[in-house]
Amino acid sequence: MIFLDAAATTPVRREVLEAMWPYLSGEFGNPSSHHTLGEAAASALAGARAAVAKVLGCRPGEVTFTSGGTEADNLAVKGIALARQAADPSLNRVVISAVEHPAVEESARYLERFHGFAVDVVPVDSAGRVAPAALAAVLRPETAVVSIMYANNEVGTIQPVAELAAVATAMGIPFHTDAVQAAGWLPLDVKALGVDALSISGHKLGAPKGCGVLYLRGRTRVEPLVHGGGQERGRRSGTENVAGAVALATALTLAHAERPELTARVAGLRERFIATILDTVPGALLTGHRTERLPSVASFCFPGTSGESVLLELERQGVVCSSGSACAAGSDAPSPVLTALGYDAEVAQTAVRFSFTSTVTSEELEQAAAAVGTAVGSVRTLGR
Ligand code: PLP
Repeated sequence: MIFLDAAATTPVRREVLEAMWPYLSGEFGNPSSHHTLGEAAASALAGARAAVAKVLGCRPGEVTFTSGGTEADNLAVKGIALARQAADPSLNRVVISAVEHPAVEESARYLERFHGFAVDVVPVDSAGRVAPAALAAVLRPETAVVSIMYANNEVGTIQPVAELAAVATAMGIPFHTDAVQAAGWLPLDVKALGVDALSISGHKLGAPKGCGVLYLRGRTRVEPLVHGGGQERGRRSGTENVAGAVALATALTLAHAERPELTARVAGLRERFIATILDTVPGALLTGHRTERLPSVASFCFPGTSGESVLLELERQGVVCSSGSACAAGSDAPSPVLTALGYDAEVAQTAVRFSFTSTVTSEELEQAAAAVGTAVGSVRTLGR
């Protein structure tokens, strides 16, 4: 099988499994316990926090471990908006982009439904980019928080996060970015990015599913979503997932060290893959930004097909990837991301996303590109 669906999830790396294994077996303590086992767990958790902080260029106290990217996004959007509104009831708007993951979009809609917030959606251009001027145009004195993703999960477009964050910061508004797809591929120094909050998910990086991180800049106030024993400095109660935290820290540290060489190699492969598809598959359209895109993502529409049929045909040929609407599980609705980029529903439902792991090879991509030509041709011929 040629696995080209790394934006959905990645296998756990051996080094990560080995690093986390002690905390699933002999060192199984609860970090809150006052005995040797508990102390060993607390120390592992502290080590993991320090390692994540090192990659992000922040203090360990600014790192909150969560159950994944979804929870990190929820805590950032709802937690910051609600904490700020509690201090100043005039703050009743939130700003998101038109291409956010549902974890951000639905958090904003929750604030709208249950807490009376208005949601302002910043448009994107046809490549999926938010212009700083477009963000400036929607910010108001009542805006409680801005959330704009670092890189898009469907088309791979990278946002000018530092410029966007500067626009919000100039008005004193906290800026959150969902870096779930960016982590491992793009720089994550939170000071250089100028963000107040940033989400990461372990399973996109070679750690297991169910572990994530929210970076929260020191003075950023956040209302917790999960109440209980006050773990994670009261920001996220619940006995800590020590093995998950160790796994995420190990995966992030490895990815950070490998990044310069890895991104150059994979971006080169991606360029060749894109060129081959555009040259050999009639009518293929590259979606997203031509250059400002994740090294690991190539996404297309193949007019005259259905993305789901191409997917099935590719799987028959041993290539696993994803259709544009994979995140709206079980839904036939065209992807809101492609709709926001200006594609009509008919073209949007022909979307296919190829996303690469760090170990992808040129042979795999050559085989995959040939399979795409065959799959698209056969779906068009059979009229499915
Ligand atoms: N944000 C983005 C951009 C994603 O791609 C995903 C997962 O697909 C998430 C958030 C959710 O992360 P998790 O699966 O860890 O909940």
